[in-house]
Amino acid sequence: MGTFRAVRIDKADAGQNVALVDFDEKDLMDGDVTVRVEWSTVNFKDGLAISGKAPVVRRFPMIPGIDFVGMVESSTHPDWKPGDRVILNGWGCGETHLGAYAEKARVKGDWLVPVPPGMTGREAMAIGTAGYTAMLAVMALERHGIAPDRGPVVVTGAAGGVGSVAVALLSRLGFTVIASTGRPQEADYLKGLGAAEIIDRAELAQPGKPLGKERWAGGIDAVGSQTLANVLAQTRYGGAVAACGLAGGMDLPTTVAPFILRGVSLLGIDSVMCPLPVRREAWKRLASDLDRGKLQTLSNEIGLAGVLVAAPAILEGKVRGRIVVKIP
Ligand code: NDP
Repeated sequence: MGTFRAVRIDKADAGQNVALVDFDEKDLMDGDVTVRVEWSTVNFKDGLAISGKAPVVRRFPMIPGIDFVGMVESSTHPDWKPGDRVILNGWGCGETHLGAYAEKARVKGDWLVPVPPGMTGREAMAIGTAGYTAMLAVMALERHGIAPDRGPVVVTGAAGGVGSVAVALLSRLGFTVIASTGRPQEADYLKGLGAAEIIDRAELAQPGKPLGKERWAGGIDAVGSQTLANVLAQTRYGGAVAACGLAGGMDLPTTVAPFILRGVSLLGIDSVMCPLPVRREAWKRLASDLDRGKLQTLSNEIGLAGVLVAAPAILEGKVRGRIVVKIP
């Protein structure tokens, strides 16, 4: 057994230390599949883990990184054999189980899904957990009967990772997309992804009335807090909002008015423990429903060391779209 390059978080007297180190293979945790990691990404949660701004990491030392694509090196799991190309999202990787920012990972075979045929590893991680969460949100709206003829759909945090993929997916599916962003300079980018209208996120950030003008049939919200409350208050009769994020805060200062007077539904989205059949369906849909050209537009590539710079940047809302991490 040897060593491999990895980002490691250690607990320190004041907070935590993060560094790119040589990690001993014998210190990998239990699992029935060992993967040579090829690509990862930087998600909002990775930013929280590396900065220590929220208690995401619950074991030290930790290799952060909540998602990867790689090639199976060895496996005792019946579903996987050496050479298989696999995707991992969540399941506590980068939180309680050693994660993705490393040349090697050992995980449970039950956590893995195959890279869809025709999709490259880079594309899969340009989508990453943020994009797969956007797909889960779209699927939740569809299950609720939200279709393009019901009216527009609003996406908050639109220039971020979840938001960018949600805009691209919804527009490809024929929805009229209203993109809410705090970055007016990204209007052309968002229109390029398929947004029909751009609104200033400040519009949704102030305390509003329990019920407002009915503006959209549905929403995908990555922001939470007052923004989600306003999105709910402005959702049309019988509409639905998929809540998946907390970039603006974890609270939800709403009233029951949208639910009991307009029959609006609030749909919760969790990607981490999402059951395998739903994951497989989401990745299948991402392979067929996401424009690959747009995926290229919304992603930038960095190396393993770049993760340390990208992590604080994503928390400051400075990252546009998705960051792909090429693992050497
Ligand atoms: P990003 O940082 O890429 O995107 C978040 C976006 O939210 C920003 O780009 C910005 O968009 C907007 N934003 C940031 N801060 C604020 C603020 N204070 N007020 C209003 N808007 C703000 O993160 P991701 O897309 O990776 O993740 C988005 C959220 O979804 C996070 O909270 C993350 O934890 C959550 N998430 C949840 C998952 C789940 O399983 N439920 C899975 C993946 C992510 P703009 O500049 O356009 O305004």
